[in-house]
Amino acid sequence: MAVIRDMMPAFELFQPTSVDEALDVLERHDNTWVLAGGLDSMDWFKDRIKRPDVVVELGSVSELTGIRASGDGLEIGAMTSLRDVVANEDVRSRFGLLADAAAQVATPQIRNQGTLGGNLIQDTRCWYYRGGWPCYRAGGNICYAGTPRSMNREHAVTGQSRCVAVNGADTAGALVALGAQMLVRSAGGERVYEAEDFFVGPEIDIERMTVLEPGDLLTHVHIPGDWAGARFYWEKVRDRKSWDWALASVAAAIVESNGTIERARIAINGVAPTPVRLTDVEDLIQGMPANDDTGMAAGELATRGFKPLRHNDYKVPLARNLVRRAVRGDMA
Ligand SMILES: Cc1cc2nc3c(=O)[nH]c(=O)nc-3n(C[C@H](O)[C@H](O)[C@H](O)COP(=O)(O)OP(=O)(O)OC[C@H]3O[C@@H](n4cnc5c(N)ncnc54)[C@H](O)[C@@H]3O)c2cc1C
Ligand code: SF4
Repeated sequence: MAVIRDMMPAFELFQPTSVDEALDVLERHDNTWVLAGGLDSMDWFKDRIKRPDVVVELGSVSELTGIRASGDGLEIGAMTSLRDVVANEDVRSRFGLLADAAAQVATPQIRNQGTLGGNLIQDTRCWYYRGGWPCYRAGGNICYAGTPRSMNREHAVTGQSRCVAVNGADTAGALVALGAQMLVRSAGGERVYEAEDFFVGPEIDIERMTVLEPGDLLTHVHIPGDWAGARFYWEKVRDRKSWDWALASVAAAIVESNGTIERARIAINGVAPTPVRLTDVEDLIQGMPANDDTGMAAGELATRGFKPLRHNDYKVPLARNLVRRAVRGDMA
């Protein structure tokens, strides 16, 4: 269980100035932890639940920060702050979906300190797990949130597999909808993942939220030009208007022509252990008008087969209506 002493266990701190140096430290040590803005990490350390021996702090690795043109798209360094993502003119004018999603993360203070990479890789907020309960995700043999008496109002309505926790990263759904790629480096070289494949569910690995393994660094996010200037829709529903993770969110990129939907990419988040790309919905709405009837059909299909827990059945109509509004293109 969490013991909040506001005093972190000791660790050895490395502050490399290049990716190569960081990878070298990660390769030479066991039980390492990569530190970006520290907003997720410090909670774990102070609660004494995660106890790395070696922390690799990336604040001085300048090659991981910044936003630059790349082909017909953009490349964003993993250490770029959420504030800078929101403020960047290219992101705003061409890929406003990401700016809108990043702008609704937490609070201005957290967006100043938090990085795009840290936001994507943040751990789930299931409070049993965050509280140090020895559940499946923590290496134990039970899910405390999945029993009939559990507190599971914020948990998953689909994609559950022993663990019923959700992905809480606002930028994740937007990057899936934009068809982004994640560039990962380790001592063994570089790997590139489509955004939708970067996140892993508990059926693949119950102790991880992404493909990253010890020794891996997310270096950059590449956004291709394919969806630049499309009609974007971002909506996040949360209990409070600020400083709160999504109960559910939708991110959509839609290109219309002659009054019908030519192509679309849509993702929902906050409802499953990973962001969920709605490929069936994308296929269904192709060639249809972007109106409320199409939105209703899309919402129905998006939520077909959802299996709510005892306290979160409200997420089914919530997700259905988010998809409906995204396809229709307005919140009214
Ligand atoms: C009060 C509060 C409210 C919040 N509300 C929201 C919200 O509404 N929406 C939302 O999306 N998020 C929310 N967050 C989460 C917050 O945005 C993230 O915790 C934050 O963005 C993490 O970024 P960071 O740079 O601080 O990462 P860190 O805490 O430093 O790292 C987070 C994780 O990512 C790993 N990591 C970071 N960078 C890399 C890298 N380049 N390569 C490999 N691994 C890496 C770290 O090892 C760690 O596991 C909230 C956080 C707090 C504290
Ligand atoms: S939902 Fe996942 S993280 Fe939460 S208690 Fe169950 S196994 Fe642990």
